[in-house]
Amino acid sequence: MTENLSNESVFREIEANYCIIQQNLEHAAMQAGVSRESIRFMAVTKTVPPVFINHALQLGIDLIGENKVQELLEKKEFLNGAYDAHLIGHLQTNKVKKIIKEVTMIQSVDSVKLACEISKQAKNADVVMPVLLELNIGEEESKTGFLPQSFAENALEIAEMDAIRVCGVMAVPPICDTQAEIRMWFEKVRKQYDKLKDYAKLKEINILSMGMSSDYEQAVLEGANLVRIGSALFGHRRY
Ligand SMILES: *Cc1c(COP(=O)(O)O)cnc(C)c1O
Repeated sequence: MTENLSNESVFREIEANYCIIQQNLEHAAMQAGVSRESIRFMAVTKTVPPVFINHALQLGIDLIGENKVQELLEKKEFLNGAYDAHLIGHLQTNKVKKIIKEVTMIQSVDSVKLACEISKQAKNADVVMPVLLELNIGEEESKTGFLPQSFAENALEIAEMDAIRVCGVMAVPPICDTQAEIRMWFEKVRKQYDKLKDYAKLKEINILSMGMSSDYEQAVLEGANLVRIGSALFGHRRY
C-alpha cells in the first residue's frame, strides 16, 4: 500500500517534469528557428526502475537511453509499448554481441576498434547498425571518445566499414559554471558535426546528440536535434 502510494507520487512528478521539458523544448526550438518535431527527446533511464520508465512511455516518450548493456537487457523484459532503445554509455568490445539486436542505435562509439567489432557482429547478425561517434570535445582524460584533431579521419575510416552506418555525433562537454561557457562547448561540437557533413562519404550524417538535464535548451540553440534527459524527467532520487 505505502509502495503504491509512493509510486503514485513519483508518477505525478514525472508527469509534471515531462510537461515542463516539453514546454522548454518548444520554446528553445522556436528560439532556434527549428520545428519542435525536428528535435528528439530521449529519456535517459539509467537507475530508473521499469515501472517509472513505463509511465514515461505512456506519456509519449518513444526513445530511451541506457548506459549499461546488462541493465538494459534486464529492464527491457519489463517495458511495454513501442520505443527505440539506444546505448549511450561506454561499450566494451566483448559485450557488442549481446547488444547488437537489442538496440536501434549505439550512440557511444568511442574508438575505431569498437566500431570494427560492431561492424563484425552486425554482419554476423545480418543487420546494419546505426551509430553515433562520441566526441571528447573537452579532451578530458576522464572521458572516452574521439579527439577533435583526429575526428574526421576516424569518422571516414569507420564509414568504410561494412555493417555500420554513421548517423551523427554524440558529445558530453566538460562541466561548466555558466550557460555562456556550455554554449561555447556545444558550438565547438556543432562545428565538428558540420565539418563531418561536408565529406561526401559522410553525407548521411544528420543526428547531433547533445544536451542533458541542466543544459538541453542551450544545446538546442546550438543545433542539437537529439537531447538526452535523465534527472530532469525522473528526479534525482536513487531508486
Ligand atoms: C546520464 C546521462 C545523461 C542524462 O543525464 P542527466 O543529467 O540526468 O539528464 C545523458 N547522457 C549520458 C551519456 C549520460 O550518461
